[in-house]
Amino acid sequence: MDIHILSEDQVAQLSHLISDAETILITCHKSPDGDAIGSSLGWAEYLRSLGKDPVVIVPDQYPDFLLWLPNTEKIVRYDKHRAKCDMLFKIADLVFCLDYNTPSRVEDMEQALVTSPANRVLIDHHPNPDVATVLTISHPEASSTSELVFRIVWQLGGFQQMTKQFAAPVYCGMMTDTGGFTFGSSNPEIYFIISELLTKHIDKDRIYRNVYHNYSEDRIRLMGYVMYEKLVYMPEYHAAYYTLTKEEQQRFHFIKGDAEGLVNIPQQIKGLKLSVSLREDTEKPKLVWVSLRSVDDFPCNQMAEAFFNGGGHLNASGGRINGTMDEAVETVRKAILAYENKLK
Ligand code: 5GP
Ligand code: MN
Repeated sequence: MDIHILSEDQVAQLSHLISDAETILITCHKSPDGDAIGSSLGWAEYLRSLGKDPVVIVPDQYPDFLLWLPNTEKIVRYDKHRAKCDMLFKIADLVFCLDYNTPSRVEDMEQALVTSPANRVLIDHHPNPDVATVLTISHPEASSTSELVFRIVWQLGGFQQMTKQFAAPVYCGMMTDTGGFTFGSSNPEIYFIISELLTKHIDKDRIYRNVYHNYSEDRIRLMGYVMYEKLVYMPEYHAAYYTLTKEEQQRFHFIKGDAEGLVNIPQQIKGLKLSVSLREDTEKPKLVWVSLRSVDDFPCNQMAEAFFNGGGHLNASGGRINGTMDEAVETVRKAILAYENKLK
């Protein structure tokens, strides 16, 4: 198995950057998912094994289904502790950028990130990175940033000292970014990595339940409601979309993380190529969040860039529409028609 991903120069550079740094920050994208949090916590655990004391800073709230992960209580939220975080960015020597490829992905934290005098190191699996760094470790072919963290720690010789505290978040990140190893996960090396992580006594079945069997009654009913009442299926285009208004989110006591996975469900329709979710922001007016999922070679990142001010992976992307829900629906229908050739 070829687990190594860094060149010899990169190994030397990364090792020096870490050993020379006193204040180290680890950052990830807005609305962090399992991979953003998992890779950050795993990387923090590795840095602690080197005697460092990194701070994991996330732009905003992470979903409840990740609360069980070890060390989440140490995570600092930028939206809640802005002054403290701004100060940390000012004095930091080294900032790791995990699971995002462009500074706008950290939303309100962007200014602090880009003006920080620290050396930035990017570790990510989204295409076309454009963060100003001293070292960019970008591997779009990887299942997840968590997989990259494993590979780097392995290559730097740190894996033996790692415990469950490292293995659980890293496994969780790999699992969530591949939908429980159902997409983007056919590289045999992934299963070598999993078998190594299991030697740290993580309970993978329990991790699955912690993440995927963690719904409230409201969330299950929301799922039923959306699929029954709100889904618009366009069989001739092998596409489907649904809308979720602010009022509907309130009705089902929507909390952060509840949208997670909803957009994947229409993909279970036989032959479906594209599923789109439109969700109104619960605070800001005229802001609709867009999530896209596709199968095979349908490029939802291109669609997200062209129509939704966003981007992402080939099969999982996101973005936003600055407008009303009616305008958002119009844009989605336009986008589907524009990709008619690829969808039909
Ligand atoms: P989700 O639908 O879970 O919010 O996002 C799916 C994927 O799309 C994320 O993992 C991320 O890679 C990408 N993504 C979501 N929103 C944006 C965005 O605004 N810009 C870019 N470049 N990528 C996004
Ligand atoms: Mn990821």
